[in-house]
Amino acid sequence: MTSRVLRVIIMGPPGAGKGTISSRIASAFKLPHLSSGDLLRTHISQGTHIGREAKRYTSEGLLVPDQTMVSLILDSISGSELRWLLDGFPRTLPQAKALSENVGVDTVINLDVPDSTIIDRIKGRRVHLPSGRVYHDEYNPPKVARLDDHTGEELIQRPDDHPDTVRERLQHYNSQTRPVLDYYEKLNLLRSFTGTESDVLWPQIETFLHSEFSTE
Ligand code: AMP
Repeated sequence: MTSRVLRVIIMGPPGAGKGTISSRIASAFKLPHLSSGDLLRTHISQGTHIGREAKRYTSEGLLVPDQTMVSLILDSISGSELRWLLDGFPRTLPQAKALSENVGVDTVINLDVPDSTIIDRIKGRRVHLPSGRVYHDEYNPPKVARLDDHTGEELIQRPDDHPDTVRERLQHYNSQTRPVLDYYEKLNLLRSFTGTESDVLWPQIETFLHSEFSTE
């Protein structure tokens, strides 16, 4: 892969494996991975002007205003030689339009993972609160059911991981991002990959990016 222009957006509901796929894309194609959530968290922890504004919204589970997000993201990608992987942005139609007006986008990868798969996956997650250790009934079970391997203490399900809460989050995501997906679909930039496992989706995404964007 030569270092030609490659501007990729990744989209997908919470729990779809966006983190896993993003880090694989970033490492296989040597792209800087820009996560809008991580950028905001850095600003918040540093107590910057943007961080103070962002905190008011993120702490309420609300979206940060478009204008703030657009200037934050445009500033972050301006020095990266037209090679980046954007994750978490755009979340709204005005953000998508502002991005198109200022920089080009080569492709939008959409992880189309069924809601039922995400709910099932999250449903089995159990945490040991004092240490933060995370288990999964099926994929990463503790040695003794429902007990932490190191302390023997009880594991709990985070309220956030309750199926009803997850369902609500997914509905919220779907209604919020539908217009953005439609927008990229019309521009013929949207590439959806449907499946339930990151390990199955990844080779398809890698092949697609190589065939479309490799000059070797
Ligand atoms: P994330 O880690 O992507 O879930 O982002 C954490 C929080 O940051 C979100 O719940 C929003 O409050 C805020 N945020 C991240 N990206 C955006 C965006 N593109 N537009 C507005 N708010 C955002």
